[in-house]
Amino acid sequence: MAAPMSAGSFLKALKEEGLTVVEVGDWRTHNRNAKGAWGPVHGVMLHHTVTKGAARTVDLCRKGYEGLPGPLCHGVITKDGRVHLVGYGRANHAGLGDDEVLRAVIAEKALPKDNEANTDGNARFYGFECENLGDGEDPWPEEQLEAIEKAAAAVCRHHGWNERSVIGHLEWQPGKVDPRGFTMNSMRERVRDRLK
Ligand SMILES: [Zn+2]
Repeated sequence: MAAPMSAGSFLKALKEEGLTVVEVGDWRTHNRNAKGAWGPVHGVMLHHTVTKGAARTVDLCRKGYEGLPGPLCHGVITKDGRVHLVGYGRANHAGLGDDEVLRAVIAEKALPKDNEANTDGNARFYGFECENLGDGEDPWPEEQLEAIEKAAAAVCRHHGWNERSVIGHLEWQPGKVDPRGFTMNSMRERVRDRLK
């Protein structure tokens, strides 16, 4: 169990991992905290956006859309490998997921299949949205994959977590397919190697 790091610590952790970070507007206080808890936090969740174009993608993740107000994550990782901070605090990214998966993340054990949507993930996970169409064909540039690895590792390093604290939305909520185009096991291996 961990209290979320401060916005300043989050920014510092990302920069210290070697990331290029773009601060967007009032990201430090843009959140959904009025709707519920943020923390304790247990892990990092990765997503794809189903969008094309950095500016449009960042704007959508900051503002959200009708029926799902932003922020839709904390950091948006665009194809060029930059991390755009759009919000901090509770964000609409994880939705309801499986309590058994959460228990496995907390214990840093292998994940069971997600087959229930009974637990509020927005309170429990840091979220990174990654610019990709999610059609299985849109490429994931190496700069972007490296930025995903670094962002996840930065959060894990701060909290003393290992790579098993990094999960994909598809491992959390039944019916979700993101991120698509790389495997979460391959990304966890990269995070593990970076944390060594
Ligand atoms: Zn998602």
